[in-house]
Amino acid sequence: MKTIQHWINGSPAAGAHPRTTPVFNPATGQEQARVALGTATDVDTAVAAASAAFETWSESSLSRRTQVMFAFRQLLVEHEEELGRIISAEHGKTVDDARGEIMRGREVVEYVCGLGDVLKGSFSDQVSRGIDVHNFRQPLGVVAGITPFNFPAMVPLWMHPIAIATGNTFILKPSERDPSAANFVAELYRKAGLPDGVFNVVHGGKEAVDAILAHDGIEAVSFVGSTPIAKYVHGTGTAAGKRVQALGGAKNHAVVLPDADLEFAADHITAGAYGSAGERCMAVSVAVAVGDTADALVDILERKARKVKVGPGDAPGVDMGPLVSRASQERVEAAVGTAAAQGATVVVDGRGLKVDGHPECADGFFTGPSLLDHVTVEMDAYKEELFGPVLAVVRVDTLDDAIALINANPYGNGTALFTGSGEAARRFQRRVKVGMIGVNVPVPVPMSYYSFGGWKDSLIGDSPVHGAEGIRFCTRPKVVTTRWPQPKQQVAAGFTFPTSN
Ligand code: NAD
Repeated sequence: MKTIQHWINGSPAAGAHPRTTPVFNPATGQEQARVALGTATDVDTAVAAASAAFETWSESSLSRRTQVMFAFRQLLVEHEEELGRIISAEHGKTVDDARGEIMRGREVVEYVCGLGDVLKGSFSDQVSRGIDVHNFRQPLGVVAGITPFNFPAMVPLWMHPIAIATGNTFILKPSERDPSAANFVAELYRKAGLPDGVFNVVHGGKEAVDAILAHDGIEAVSFVGSTPIAKYVHGTGTAAGKRVQALGGAKNHAVVLPDADLEFAADHITAGAYGSAGERCMAVSVAVAVGDTADALVDILERKARKVKVGPGDAPGVDMGPLVSRASQERVEAAVGTAAAQGATVVVDGRGLKVDGHPECADGFFTGPSLLDHVTVEMDAYKEELFGPVLAVVRVDTLDDAIALINANPYGNGTALFTGSGEAARRFQRRVKVGMIGVNVPVPVPMSYYSFGGWKDSLIGDSPVHGAEGIRFCTRPKVVTTRWPQPKQQVAAGFTFPTSN
């Protein structure tokens, strides 16, 4: 069986210890490879390579770095299908969906292709007589990224192009559940002309993460994953003196007002809830039906949920693949049972789904779309991030009730409002305590030149990813105050604190 190795200093690297963990094909339920489990020694080897590479990469010109990013971007275009299939085979999502995440991740590379403009500092002439001030930003050193299973290409792409383009070197610790995309991207960087040691991959789980958080040679850590681990990574990393950005979990509400086009809203909520089997941090997991919309909305949602075509991610015409693991499948199916026991109406029951026409999928980690109605805030189906294809409908009376509901939820990643009213949309976006908001857009993932990040338990610390915030995270500012006195015009030094005149 194939073992997926680390990638250190420009080539695959066996770990210091031969320990591995299985990588499954979620559509068949079969183990298809093993992945190395990194240790502190492996992290140390990667940091040594990245530190050495930093000496020269941080001195490379903006033009050189931009050229590498242009070439890398082109390779991502040329290999989109191949990388999409690699992702689909380990994650379970459809190949088209995987191509979508590659495309969205590639936009971050496109953003840093304009690095020369993005990194421009500013200059103030004559702030005092004969004195000017300018500023610029410099890279930090070695930056690490720790990423979740659900976007094995896009989430790392939120991080490494920005870190690398700004002159840092990078160590990626991807999810052990779908590790192959990271090595494929490493190959693309090499083909793009990135020097060895600038981009490294250390596979593994907690042991590798702890080694990253403890390593003195790592300046900053970007984390994306569940909220408990985000809190742990942020707390441990900052206590060790590192800069840490840590994005956590989500419970995203889509509010439907009585003036909305219900067919349109239900169509988009269905895609937002069941796309990628609900394993998106921006998935719609709660539909909030306002006023008298609920019965009609649930009828349409039911019709649409029953039409979702479930199958292996590489089969044509499939809307939704399996969940990533047996544990996820069992957890999601148990949650539907708990919801029923707690009083929710199970309108569509996805449990026990058998995939037609694919005998090889008999042991796959499939569950069908589930639709729950009359869900209340006390129920586990509302409180927990289920991270599966389960849509809960909560009924409220007014838009203000919907806003209060969302604001009382501990998460604040994404939310959407379906309405025909500009006034309602404006009130919603100004009052709701959520970082990313869609108006008639169910999954409002911001473009790469804006930042991505939620509020409350969806983002620990204060730093979202990409856009100007990403550049800020990966660099430190310097402000330089300059005087070039002419000969014989020396200014006398004063013992009082310097002031302008
Ligand atoms: P996870 O928290 O289990 O794992 C994330 C990373 O942390 C992985 O690399 C994993 O190996 C590592 N890890 C896991 N347990 C650890 C531990 N005990 N100590 C140290 N490291 C550990 O998350 P996941 O299941 O891979 O991904 C799904 C979660 O990620 C969901 O909660 C989802 O909402 C969240 N997510 C959030 C965003 C966002 O932008 N806010 C984006 C994608 C995913």
